[in-house]
Amino acid sequence: MDKFKIQPKVNDCFSNMFKCYKHVMRTFVLVVGPLQVISYPTIQWIGIRTSLPLPSSSEVFWQIVVYFIIEDFSDYWIHRMLHAKWAYKKIHRVHHEYTAPIGLAAPYAHWAEILILGLPSFLGPVLVPGHIITYWLWFILRQLEAIETHSGYLLPWTPTKYIPFYGGAEYHDYHHFVGEQSKSNFASIFTYCDYIYGTNKGYRAHKQVLEKAKNL
Ligand SMILES: [Zn+2]
Ligand SMILES: [Zn+2]
Repeated sequence: MDKFKIQPKVNDCFSNMFKCYKHVMRTFVLVVGPLQVISYPTIQWIGIRTSLPLPSSSEVFWQIVVYFIIEDFSDYWIHRMLHAKWAYKKIHRVHHEYTAPIGLAAPYAHWAEILILGLPSFLGPVLVPGHIITYWLWFILRQLEAIETHSGYLLPWTPTKYIPFYGGAEYHDYHHFVGEQSKSNFASIFTYCDYIYGTNKGYRAHKQVLEKAKNL
């Protein structure tokens, strides 16, 4: 697997991974866990269907496409705001502790960030409510996407490379690699927001340098 590593010189030791695991579990148990109490009333309030009939596959597919687009756009702007001096120092700094991210570091963040960046994930189902099956599938896919994006590996066989405008592991890895100074690659899923708002310049320059080094 080493040949697929994006930052081959960085090797996380077990204690560093375990620290990440403990932090993530603590946030999930103490912050995300208690929120489950309001989970069902919220689902009912949004208007998500919880009974038969099951949704058609085309309904599931198109709603999830819409959820990804809404998530990407709103996450882009909130993430960009989290890079303002105050918010970075107080909140977002924690997520950037991993300059060479690992899959488990996807939800490694300040508890406030988990709540703030959780909102874009709910915005899609609030605006376009569907069935609970779609809702659960959406969160599973969103988590898998976040894990892949933070994995630190650029796998040639990943099916996500066929998704148009998909950022992927290398794209977000660069955002972590640069850290606090990063003014590039704020989007969590696709590449077009950074392209439209001009926040991919650092990454493009970095790729050009890598390309040149490869051709030498
Ligand atoms: Zn960031
Ligand atoms: Zn990240």
